[in-house]
Amino acid sequence: MTGGTLIENVAIAPVVGPEIGRGWIHLDGDRIAALGAGQAPETPGAARVDGTGCLATPGLVNTHHHLYQWASQGVAQDATLFEWLTALYQVWAAMDAEVVKGAATAGLGWLALSGCTTTTDHHYIFPKGRGDLFAAEIEAARDLGLRFHPCRGSMDRGASQGGLPPDEVVEGLDRILAATAEAIDTYHDPSPGSMLRVAVAPCSPFSVSAELMTEAAALARDKGVRLHTHLCETLDEEEHCREQMGCTPVDYMEKLGWLGPDVWVAHAVHLHDRDIRRFADTGTGSAHCPSSNGRLGAGIARVSEMLRAGAVVGLGVDGSASSELTPLAGEMRQALLFQRARYGPAALTARQALEIGTLGGARCLGREDEIGSLEPGKLADLVLWRVDGFASAVEDPVCALVFGATPPVARVIVGGRTVVEDGELRTVPHDAAGRAGADAHHRLLTLAAARGHTVTQEVHH
Ligand SMILES: [Zn+2]
Repeated sequence: MTGGTLIENVAIAPVVGPEIGRGWIHLDGDRIAALGAGQAPETPGAARVDGTGCLATPGLVNTHHHLYQWASQGVAQDATLFEWLTALYQVWAAMDAEVVKGAATAGLGWLALSGCTTTTDHHYIFPKGRGDLFAAEIEAARDLGLRFHPCRGSMDRGASQGGLPPDEVVEGLDRILAATAEAIDTYHDPSPGSMLRVAVAPCSPFSVSAELMTEAAALARDKGVRLHTHLCETLDEEEHCREQMGCTPVDYMEKLGWLGPDVWVAHAVHLHDRDIRRFADTGTGSAHCPSSNGRLGAGIARVSEMLRAGAVVGLGVDGSASSELTPLAGEMRQALLFQRARYGPAALTARQALEIGTLGGARCLGREDEIGSLEPGKLADLVLWRVDGFASAVEDPVCALVFGATPPVARVIVGGRTVVEDGELRTVPHDAAGRAGADAHHRLLTLAAARGHTVTQEVHH
């Protein structure tokens, strides 16, 4: 072993392979070269990082987000999903590339600060003449240095077609398919170690036509990219599907070719028994977003049953407007508590929560060969959590990480590059990233007000 970076004196929870009480990790370029227990071998020329008091885990993988929503947090605080969407669509219609860039900078910075190294984003509102919104969030992710899987979202079923969104925020089918193909051709990098992969992501069964769902799946499979959408988030959605399509949401998606190993869906809260079996049998992944589901009173996903059935489950924070300031690490805790509240104390262990937050997410994104665990040859995406100080009274560091409040982050490394150190962003100015989010918020409200829409009205029951 020579050169690279050597992390020493660190507890390691690699997710795959045995846990190590005190050991070392050697990073070479963007890969993990080796790791082991005890004293590190001689490594001439290596930059040394003292991991005393820290737990090393794989970087967390965020499988569902809407970064633009950073600009509209704290609105419609007591609304159901459909009420919340209806209150917000018109405000979001006012966004432009500057709003998206600022919101994405803050949102991605916040994710990095909570131990996230790979994130998706699902962007599905593209008002005309407002700049290149997709490019804006990609630029923010490149500046931050996070591994990014942006999903080119879309909606083509406005209110006049029986959909939920107002007609102003939907696009035409041909334009959507052309713009999605162009986004893939421009940005998608399928090579090993890729920092950016694009997915195709019509928004949901209640905002998208059957034709768009079908054509989007064909496009994604032609281009060799993955498919993402919202599914089974609320009982309102199930009712809407039964009324409009005459079947359940999962039946509907199966008919349209939307179950498979190249698909992951957000939420999957209201799955029937046969849906869980179909998800497991087809390799369809689910992004479990417990904070958002709790915030919107959507229900609790059947995660422990899904895992027992062999289904693929990852974690997501969901958009910031439905999970205000939620750290990704906190989703491990919320997942654990929600499952136990529903099924009892054996429903989900701390290690299972860590696994869905890392390897489960990697499987949702089809990248389990590269990320999601600390193993030689995998990408050097990892987090050093401070589990000393107050947390040191908990002897098991994985318990300290998952059961308690999110511990401070000593270091977040993506592809061998330090993105966060001692709780501060290192790739972009830390304070400016937070300010960019506040500026985006004010800009969005000003743009919306100029179009006659405000977010001051709350939904009252
Ligand atoms: Zn969502």
